[in-house]
Amino acid sequence: MNAHRRLTVALAATALTLTSALAAGSPASASDGPGRTVPDTAPSAEGAEPLVAPVLGTPDAGRVTARASSARRPLFAFWGLKYNRLDGFGFQSAVRGSGTSIELAAAWKTYRGSKPLLPKVFVQARVDGGKWSKLKGAKGKIGKNGLVRSRVPAFTVTAGVPAQTVDYRFKTKKLKKGPKKARRSIASKPVSVRFENQAMYTGEQARFYAPIANLCPNSNVTIDTTGALAGDRAGVFDWQNGLTINPTLLATYTWQSEAQKLAVAIHECAHFQQFHLWGGTNESWETLVARSGEVFVPDNNPSGPTTPMAADWAPLEHAADCATSIITGGIQDTYGGYCNPAETAAAGLLWQGQRY
Ligand SMILES: [Zn+2]
Repeated sequence: MNAHRRLTVALAATALTLTSALAAGSPASASDGPGRTVPDTAPSAEGAEPLVAPVLGTPDAGRVTARASSARRPLFAFWGLKYNRLDGFGFQSAVRGSGTSIELAAAWKTYRGSKPLLPKVFVQARVDGGKWSKLKGAKGKIGKNGLVRSRVPAFTVTAGVPAQTVDYRFKTKKLKKGPKKARRSIASKPVSVRFENQAMYTGEQARFYAPIANLCPNSNVTIDTTGALAGDRAGVFDWQNGLTINPTLLATYTWQSEAQKLAVAIHECAHFQQFHLWGGTNESWETLVARSGEVFVPDNNPSGPTTPMAADWAPLEHAADCATSIITGGIQDTYGGYCNPAETAAAGLLWQGQRY
């Protein structure tokens, strides 16, 4: 994460150097007029701590009071909510589009004084607060490090229903051997995902989903009219709420065409593709950032003017810009720079469901 920040800063410094060189020698770019904007807030995985099973407290051997409580407590448990992970992040609820899958993770503990007990684990789900039932196709196994994670199958919202909320949790299989109090089944605290049915979108959600329906059909669209999620930008690919657009801010961009405004959704859709094609987790995003740096570079158009690069220009943003340009023909806000043929080809892979 620090490496990511350093990389961004280093590239931004390069971009600034190139920009001043350009400003001296070439005409201003067409999109460099009043109110020039960049499409979004650069997504970053910063702030999500890695999932580490907590270290247990001091042993209670020899202490009478502790012994009494140790007799009462269970031999094992799942750690609490803050050790759960949804797609590798620390939040316990999220919004996703119909047709997306999530990664569930939790931490496991066996209390001191007993050998590690690692029962078999399966995933349970319940829809809209209904009955818990075993989720077919989801595997879980408690690792030696005390972590259990599972990629659960994509959930499809029932036709004609606008949204459904699915809770997921791990449940252990009852042990048949060992101490009597180990012969029980326990469940982790659940995480909760609201899946939206894109076919039922109306209003602003329908407006911004329409241009991406064929590009990232499983994406959701969250409308953020206050900037609570997107900040001072028109859009953001938000880890918790997915593709997020602020139409109120976009409405103030009076110099922009509707196509240019909708291009923000296409740019965020490219981030959706990046996120999910690389594995759809906090950890895999780090790999994506590194790979983007190998493919996408801050170069200039050798045969014409280049839009100056924004201070927060970054390879993965340039990838989303180049992918968007393939769809819009360049009618869009960008972080600036030039999509060379190799970058355009690489970015195009995102629309074919492939990694670059
Ligand atoms: Zn972006």
